Amino acid sequence: MVDLHAQYLKIKSEIDAAVQQVIDSSAFINGPGVDRFAENLAGYLGVKHVIPCANGTDALMMALMVLDLKPDDEVIVPTFGYVAAAEVISFLHLIPVMVDADCGSFNISLDELEQYITSKTKAIIPVHLFGQCCRMEPIMQLSQKYNLYVIEDNAQSLGATYTFSDGKKKKAGAIGDIGCTSFFPAKNLGCFGDGGAVFTDHDELAEKIRMTANHGQSEKYCHKIIGCNSRLDTLQAAILDVKLKYLDAYSEARYAAAQRYTEGLKKIDELELPAEEPFSTHVYNQYTVKVKNGKRDALKACLHEKGIPSAVYYPLPLHKQQAFKGIIRTVSSLDYATQLCGEVLSLPMHTELEPGVQQFIIDEIRCFFEG
Ligand SMILES: *Cc1c(COP(=O)(O)O)cnc(C)c1O
Repeated sequence: MVDLHAQYLKIKSEIDAAVQQVIDSSAFINGPGVDRFAENLAGYLGVKHVIPCANGTDALMMALMVLDLKPDDEVIVPTFGYVAAAEVISFLHLIPVMVDADCGSFNISLDELEQYITSKTKAIIPVHLFGQCCRMEPIMQLSQKYNLYVIEDNAQSLGATYTFSDGKKKKAGAIGDIGCTSFFPAKNLGCFGDGGAVFTDHDELAEKIRMTANHGQSEKYCHKIIGCNSRLDTLQAAILDVKLKYLDAYSEARYAAAQRYTEGLKKIDELELPAEEPFSTHVYNQYTVKVKNGKRDALKACLHEKGIPSAVYYPLPLHKQQAFKGIIRTVSSLDYATQLCGEVLSLPMHTELEPGVQQFIIDEIRCFFEG
């Protein structure tokens, strides 16, 4: 699905030098490279504060921890997607309110979103799935109307750009009150292990997140709030600082690979190809198609037989997961998310995908449908 080794080989000398420098310095925890990377990422995103942390799930958890929410306060999340946001909401004894997916984009549906908002609703977590932004402009309008915090889960869409109706542009993750991302190796900006970050323009929230990540202390052994221990290693920061310079080129390579898939697959009636929204660039963390007429699993098996990997992101909507039984609230049947889980298939997608390899994949898919 990804080729991390080929990507590494292209920048090996830079990465190796950066890693060696950290080893020589022995500043493995909170070394100067961590702040440097945070500043560079803040510059890239156009946000005031970037707080690096241990992983994307911690980023989401800390974002929620600093909002002074009370048990049973409600937080709106999509039911189609990765578990992290709903998981940390529940972990903090808040109620995940689950919303259906949008037909075209896989992202949270806005059709009925207002109906989910009650006096207990305090925040909404739009998850920018597969590389493309949610409809942030109406989400921000709703959040202003009902005084809700907006925490963007930007683990899959770092580098995407949102265009507002007045033409103003912002980076994904820099639109809401707080943005969160993950540097898991397979993400668009991946490190060589685990990593994550929180971004915000709010000085006070940034200060609280910084303290939260460091056992709630402002100065050593002075614990003002309940926190946790969530740090980005200096080694990972050094690797990320090298790779950040290539993020836009990586996004372009993913986009080009996506266009090759689309060109090769567009004539197959039983496939619905990814829809590109007019308001967001697409950085294709995943190239995810919908396979119609119940043929998804057969196509997946056929590809597997030919040595072609593919993956189902995601096989079960969160509201049907055992862990959330009795915890969630919803106001709709969430049918569309359930339907998606039966249709989606993600094809190999990464920065080093060769046209020849893609042609082989395309040919095998066409062979499956057309014989
Ligand atoms: C990967 C991912 C996360 C979690 O990131 P980790 O670094 O693995 O904790 C959260 N949300 C989404 C949408 C993700 O894809």
